[in-house]
Amino acid sequence: TTTSAAAYPRKILDYMEGFLVSKTLFTACELGVFDLLASSQRPLSLEEVAQGIRASLDGTERLLAACTGLDLLNTHTLDGQVIYSNTEQSSVYLTQSSPVSLTQSIHYSSKTIYLCWHYLTDAVREGSNQYEKAFGVKSEDLFEALYRSEEEMVKFMQLMNSIWNICGRDVVTAFNLSPFTTIYDLGGCSGALAKQCVLTYPECTVTIFDLPKVVKTSREHFVTDDNQRVSFHEGDFFKDALPDADLYILARILHDWTDERSIELLTKVYRACRPGGGVLVVEALLCEDGSGPLTAQLYSLNMLVQTEGKERTAAEYTALLTASGFQNIQVERTGKIYDTVLGRK
Ligand code: SAM
Repeated sequence: TTTSAAAYPRKILDYMEGFLVSKTLFTACELGVFDLLASSQRPLSLEEVAQGIRASLDGTERLLAACTGLDLLNTHTLDGQVIYSNTEQSSVYLTQSSPVSLTQSIHYSSKTIYLCWHYLTDAVREGSNQYEKAFGVKSEDLFEALYRSEEEMVKFMQLMNSIWNICGRDVVTAFNLSPFTTIYDLGGCSGALAKQCVLTYPECTVTIFDLPKVVKTSREHFVTDDNQRVSFHEGDFFKDALPDADLYILARILHDWTDERSIELLTKVYRACRPGGGVLVVEALLCEDGSGPLTAQLYSLNMLVQTEGKERTAAEYTALLTASGFQNIQVERTGKIYDTVLGRK
């Protein structure tokens, strides 16, 4: 019948063309459309935007039209001429100067993740990441490949940093972490989550444990001197000894690694952990029955093309934690992308 779902495959057509939407967003950000409109004191005409972003009139017109269709821009008519301005969300999230800007993440999605996803079919067939095909780099050492240049490393760190402006507070408040005063953020990267922790818990100190070159960059570009309760520890969490602490945070760490490597790391954490202490795992959790959430399902494919790991269910994390010695495992969902699992020693 004409009313059946099969009559017009809207969903499938949308999915087929989903990448057109992503690329429109990437391009508008790369050309600085939202920045230009934010810095101007008034809405701009097509001619003014084209000149400001140094692009063709015809191309700009189509780009602005698509952004309008995507609700990323507003249009008005003034004296018979169409003028463009940012929507509220665009000015908050798509301009570089905004404190909660997503432009760095969009840049990384455009320049790195998108290229890896070109080889998704191979990744699924082979069951492994596609760095060699996408970038010509061997990936035996995952983070050697991810950090194949200083520039790539900084871009990755910016990607990691930006989401915690949006989801960080929910993650650190999902459990009451106030009993834990000495905290190590293993693979703490740019320190965004460490900063959220010290803001939320006035008694705690957080040490960011990461690879030496990451620590160096984090010190230079991300963590300022006014973050007095945040400090650093250079090391390799697979090879070096872990300092003792009340709480270890592992945010988006286990999803990079196989079950074997995850248990190896968690067992080291368990041994270093003070009695009564714990480990907080922060990840995008999959539902037990595999039905969602879609973001986590897609992230798991992303882990396939980019890493050695995968996204897991709460039961799978519980099994990894239990196999490593942790007890009393509790799960808290935040309703945003990242959830938390707490294990105790
Ligand atoms: N926890 C951060 C977050 O959620 O924003 C960053 C997560 S990122 C996916 C993985 C982090 O683990 C990176 O900062 C990386 O440098 C660090 N890392 C990877 N291998 C490591 C190792 N062997 N020792 C210490 N840190 C490592």
